This record gives sequence, structure tokens and C-alpha cells, in this order.
Amino acid sequence: MKDKLKEIDEWITITQTGKFGGLRLSVRAVKYFRWLIFKVNEYRADLQKIKVEIKRLRGIILVNNLWQEAPCCLCGYTGEGYFDSKRHTCILEAAEVLEIKEREGK
Ligand SMILES: [Zn+2]
Repeated sequence: MKDKLKEIDEWITITQTGKFGGLRLSVRAVKYFRWLIFKVNEYRADLQKIKVEIKRLRGIILVNNLWQEAPCCLCGYTGEGYFDSKRHTCILEAAEVLEIKEREGK
């Protein structure tokens, strides 16, 4: 990820200076780099939206105890110790959500 960010920084420098490693880039190449940065930012925004949506859906499943029947609809676990947090970590997340629910008195 750090390498990718460094790459993006390099692209930004390219679009600002029009130079890459001492070479002067064509207008077309600079436009192409700008387009790449635009696409990367679009992808980042989509990724953020997807992460928020996943969190929201997991919350609905946990609040309504829909995970309590195996196989787990969050991770697919169906083995031994379904309610043992050492074997099935969704239990920890469920406990957290229930604690928040109780604290908020819902
Ligand atoms: Zn699970």
C-alpha cells in the first residue's frame, strides 16, 4: 500500500511538472497520468462506500442475532465450539454489539 501511495505521489508530481525522471512528458502522457489519478480516486471512494455498507449489513445481522444458527452468515463457520469465541471470533463482535445495544437501552 505504501508503494502504491508513493507511486500516486509520483504521478501527481508528473502532472504538475510534466517531467518524469528528467524527461519532459508529452501533453498526452500528462493527460494520461491525470486520468489514472482520477480513476484511483474513484476506486478509493467506491472502496470506502463498500466498507461502510459491509459494516452496516454486519450490524443488522448482529443486532438481530441472525448469526446464532450455524453456518454463520458472517463467516460461514459451522464447526465445533460455535459459541466459543476462541474458535469462532464473530462471537466477540456479537457481544460488542449487544453491549452497545444494552448501553443505549434499545
Ligand atoms: Zn462467524
